[in-house]
Amino acid sequence: MIIHNFLDYYARNQPDLPCITQHGITTDFGEVAQRSKRLANGLLALGVDKGQRVAILGENSLEHLLLVMASSRIGAVAVSLNHRLAPAELAFVISDAETRVLLALAGTEDKLSTLREQVGTDLAVLTQGAEFDAWLAQQSTEPPSRSVSAQDALLQLYTSGTTGNPKGVVISHFNLLSLCTMNDTAAPLRASAGMAAIICAPLFHIGGMGSMVFSIYKGLHTLLHRSFDPQQFVDDIEQYPVSNVFMVPAMIMAILQLPDIEGRDFSNLNQVFYGASPISESILRRALAVFECDFIQMYGMTETTGTVINLSADDHRKALAGKPELLRSCGRPSVGAEVKVMDRNGEELPAGEIGEIWLRSDTVMQHYYNLPEATAASLTDGWVHTGDAGYLDTEGYLYLKDRIKDMVVSGGENIYPVEVENAIAQHDAVADVAVIGVPDDKYGESLLAFVVLKPGQALQLEQLIDFCRERIAGYKIPRQMQVVEELPRNPSGKILKKILRQPYWEDVERNIG
Ligand code: ATP
Ligand code: MG
Repeated sequence: MIIHNFLDYYARNQPDLPCITQHGITTDFGEVAQRSKRLANGLLALGVDKGQRVAILGENSLEHLLLVMASSRIGAVAVSLNHRLAPAELAFVISDAETRVLLALAGTEDKLSTLREQVGTDLAVLTQGAEFDAWLAQQSTEPPSRSVSAQDALLQLYTSGTTGNPKGVVISHFNLLSLCTMNDTAAPLRASAGMAAIICAPLFHIGGMGSMVFSIYKGLHTLLHRSFDPQQFVDDIEQYPVSNVFMVPAMIMAILQLPDIEGRDFSNLNQVFYGASPISESILRRALAVFECDFIQMYGMTETTGTVINLSADDHRKALAGKPELLRSCGRPSVGAEVKVMDRNGEELPAGEIGEIWLRSDTVMQHYYNLPEATAASLTDGWVHTGDAGYLDTEGYLYLKDRIKDMVVSGGENIYPVEVENAIAQHDAVADVAVIGVPDDKYGESLLAFVVLKPGQALQLEQLIDFCRERIAGYKIPRQMQVVEELPRNPSGKILKKILRQPYWEDVERNIG
């Protein structure tokens, strides 16, 4: 079985089933299948060999799905590019992936012209528009005859680049099929074919792309948003039979801040899947009260094709019924997934002890593209070294502390800034917060809090310190605070701490982990 088999299955049995709606235009499964066959034949005509990379640049669109399905048909590998990157960064990724064909969507013209000067001439560029449509219409709708197996690569997605340069993660059909079956068992969808799901997370990250593939697997009607817009998001939930959504915490926060949030109708929603970055307990509690539906937390990474650990809807209910600590956990392993916590010498730690989280599952990537050393450093016997710190409890629930690279060592104590952020987020004046370590002559590092205030609110450092004193140990309390307008985040909503840290660490070596 390979990925486009699911598309073809629905296309054959229920061709009129709505597949994707964008800007009010709905394309059914039958049509998506046809067009992806045309694109597959077009790519063959352009000389795309098995295993070669075909990239797409632009905001979320139907074409992303067409390219993935066309790639599936001919054994090519789809590279979904982050359109927010600067031309030089894009040129790096396009060259890094040895891209054969680039499909450039409307809105990318400026970047494309700069980019073309920087990449080699053997790249074929297709630009969205009338000419592309005419070219596509000429292609055959016969299924290409190339043989493709589940072990072949289908996607190359780049990591978010939160901690360093993005790395190209090679993901196979088998990885994606495993993701679908694992999620469907561990966090069963309360929806059947024909019901709607909103995808507003970027399709160049695994959260968005994994949801898209899962929608096809389940025959769902995807409401695909170009990018995240809180107003459009809530409008769609009210207007369509939207049973489930995937959101990152930054999106949840933006929705909760809508001025008319209390009067909005979320009764269509059965499930909110969320994850990709830490969520504070206070935001999560508020979201549970506002959305009044099942919440499922997802933990995973590009290297594991997305979610391998989840906190189920039942776990959320248990938390509210008297086990509040569960709201700080990201859950337990999905079907066939394994988790362990390791010390620096590669020894497994017992429950309760903090170390690096390692994950193993059928969703673990094949390798980083053209980076054998990084691959060897990240994979041991099928286990991915996540770079995240955390611990397991005796019931097997995983508690994330923070990224190891973000851990702060102050006066010999390890501090996980996420814990400090959670405490500060409880303050009524605080809309958003990030905590980093800055050089300190006496303690090595000390904590600096960047705080975004709610409109009309004020907060002094002394007040912040007093507030923290009741909640966290003295050595975890930030001694410096900066009020800022907003925090730097990447498109998947992750706070870019390397940007916050940079001015403080320019001339100083940071010893981490
Ligand atoms: P890079 O590896 O390039 O630095 P990245 O790690 O942010 O970027 P992704 O693969 O998109 O790239 O993100 C995976 C990371 O996101 C995880 O390692 C973890 O730190 C964080 N994450 C994912 N899910 C959750 C969650 N439920 N709660 C907290 N953090 C999460
Ligand atoms: Mg990472």
